[in-house]
Amino acid sequence: MVGAGLSGLVCARELKRQGLTVRLLEARDRWGGRMHGHTSASGLRLDLGGQWVGASHHRLIELLAEFGLRRYPTYYDGQGIFHWRGLTHRAGVEHDFRSSLLFFKPQELDLPAAAVAETLALQLRFAQLVEQVPPQAPWNASNASELDRLSIAAWLQGQGAGELARYSLAWLGRLGGSGGFEPHESSILHLAWTQAVAPQQETPEAWLVEGGVAQLAAQLAGELAEVIQLQAPVAAIEQEGDGGLRLSYGCGEQLQAAAAVVAIPPPLRLGIRFSPALPPDWTALLQRSPMGSMVKMLAIYWEPFWRRQGLNGLGIGNLPTLELCVDSSPPGGPGVLAGFIAGERAWRWQRLGAAERRQAVLNDLVSWWGPEAAEPQELVLHNWNEESWTTGAFTSFLAPGTWTSYGRVWQQAHGRVVWAGTEAASRWPGYFEGAIEAGLAAADQVRQLLGGR
Ligand SMILES: Cc1cc2nc3c(=O)[nH]c(=O)nc-3n(C[C@H](O)[C@H](O)[C@H](O)COP(=O)(O)OP(=O)(O)OC[C@H]3O[C@@H](n4cnc5c(N)ncnc54)[C@H](O)[C@@H]3O)c2cc1C
Repeated sequence: MVGAGLSGLVCARELKRQGLTVRLLEARDRWGGRMHGHTSASGLRLDLGGQWVGASHHRLIELLAEFGLRRYPTYYDGQGIFHWRGLTHRAGVEHDFRSSLLFFKPQELDLPAAAVAETLALQLRFAQLVEQVPPQAPWNASNASELDRLSIAAWLQGQGAGELARYSLAWLGRLGGSGGFEPHESSILHLAWTQAVAPQQETPEAWLVEGGVAQLAAQLAGELAEVIQLQAPVAAIEQEGDGGLRLSYGCGEQLQAAAAVVAIPPPLRLGIRFSPALPPDWTALLQRSPMGSMVKMLAIYWEPFWRRQGLNGLGIGNLPTLELCVDSSPPGGPGVLAGFIAGERAWRWQRLGAAERRQAVLNDLVSWWGPEAAEPQELVLHNWNEESWTTGAFTSFLAPGTWTSYGRVWQQAHGRVVWAGTEAASRWPGYFEGAIEAGLAAADQVRQLLGGR
């Protein structure tokens, strides 16, 4: 097994339960990958990576329950703030995403009625497109080639979309789960596919976990303590004529195995030397699958002061740095706002010095929540683009033209090398749920490969 993120941990546990001898090699000095906990100065457990549990993330919900990890609902009572062209607009949350304007009740937003109507009409046309995309085989959508060669930006232009309508779909690419890419970087087919396999409509941000979801990785790793090796980056996987495999890792160490599961983000697979080499279609697919660009922010306050003003901490809009902010306060605890800097905003932000980075974030928090937001007890900024064993977040995306040219190999094993990792999932790729699905599916494939052994 390569990679001790959630997917690799789940896969290793499954194979071990079936009585197979498993070794789990992890490049970092910690397990969990994008499931990553942090303890604040005041002792609060927070998630620097993923944090939410979705309403239909059944495998994740089951696993949390198995370890006795308790969920609590994300706080959506009261009104959120949509920031648009320098003005704040308060509105309640519309739980039916498709009828919402980026989660808000459109009729409550004090925006020009024509722009709102145009945005809702465009969202509807996009939703119709999503329905035409087969989740398992997006290259079979009608007009797939055309839609795959069309960037999201070009599609929006072709629709004659106005500024607000353009923003709503661009936001979905930058922050809607798949995350971290700009409208010129991916195709409208890819964006539609992300919603076909991981629909925002199914409320992926329904729950949070008391003490942080990262406890799950710690629990799984605890069960696998004797099979995990940390600081063991895998550099080569060679398949030998006798049906065996040789993995080279760490400082020149080697390991013989009957099969290998690679559970790492797609672009990082290019850093492993495979023998025989990956087929050209596979290499081309990986070369066109970069990670999104993403920074996570956590601002901790003495109390969730915004709730006193009837606000629920949901902030969205075209601010210079942050584009999404959500109340992530633990029940009865201090106030916590989680926020994200995505796509081009993240590239610009990461070129600033530390003091300017902090100030840029605080400025946006004040734009949403007023002067009290300027002085958090603690401000944590975690840049996933700087993590060399992840290289971005939330997940990878495909460049225009990639699905229809090379996408067919997406889940195909390479001999006795099987792919896991959230990006290999058919449902909820990019999320924890996808990581679990892909881990279990890989364990199944290994069992079949090893057949009589
Ligand atoms: C900021 C952020 C917010 C997110 N929000 C959510 C959310 O709210 N809800 C949700 O469901 N999902 C969310 N996600 C996505 C979720 O975290 C991921 O989908 C999931 O954790 C991926 O798990 P994985 O095991 O597939 O991959 P990873 O967690 O990336 O694990 C891969 C592991 O492989 C290791 N590795 C890489 N290369 C090698 C190598 N050559 N040799 C050995 N080891 C290697 C890495 O160090 C890593 O530990 C978020 C992610 C981020 C970063």
